[in-house]
Amino acid sequence: MHTVNSLSTKATGLPISIQIDVVKFLHQLPSANPKVLQVVAALLNATETLVALPEFQEMKEEDEAEQHCVRCHDTFTNNENGPSSCTIPHLFDTMPSHITAHGGYVKISGYGSRCCGPDVEVEEEGVGANRFTNLDELDQCYEGYHTMDVGEVEAEEEYNEINIRRCKMDSDSGECVQECIVDKDPVFDKSLQ
Ligand SMILES: [Zn+2]
Ligand SMILES: [Zn+2]
Ligand SMILES: [Zn+2]
Repeated sequence: MHTVNSLSTKATGLPISIQIDVVKFLHQLPSANPKVLQVVAALLNATETLVALPEFQEMKEEDEAEQHCVRCHDTFTNNENGPSSCTIPHLFDTMPSHITAHGGYVKISGYGSRCCGPDVEVEEEGVGANRFTNLDELDQCYEGYHTMDVGEVEAEEEYNEINIRRCKMDSDSGECVQECIVDKDPVFDKSLQ
């Protein structure tokens, strides 16, 4: 008697490289043994039948459909959604919170973050030269899966309207026009609308 669980365990036990393995196996066979070929044909026919099922195709279509993340406002597909797909950088103050001067010249400027407080800061050599010295050490403000579920973001109290902001729906297009800040680093508050 098949159950979802028993079949899922069986599927998990298969090598993930099965497609490559089958092709390699066929090519290295010393002779075309009809019994062996029949086993391979049975596997391939069953696989073809599976992927042609409407339920299977529906799942693939859903996985490839473009969706809108209600946390970072980027576009994603279920296929590409992983544990660090949704990343949001900290948002820093425009003005340095402290500077270290040396002989009348500013050596290091520190800019505190709006989202995580003054403890998280980006450091710049001089001031206004865009030579940031600790970008490698700064982690992301948020890192996780993209989501379409506003309730999920609300439940974790992630919306701060600073760098994690709610969707801004355009009344004409019905689409979210909230700025996606995923690819900017570091992000200063003057650069966001
Ligand atoms: Zn932050
Ligand atoms: Zn996201
Ligand atoms: Zn949005």
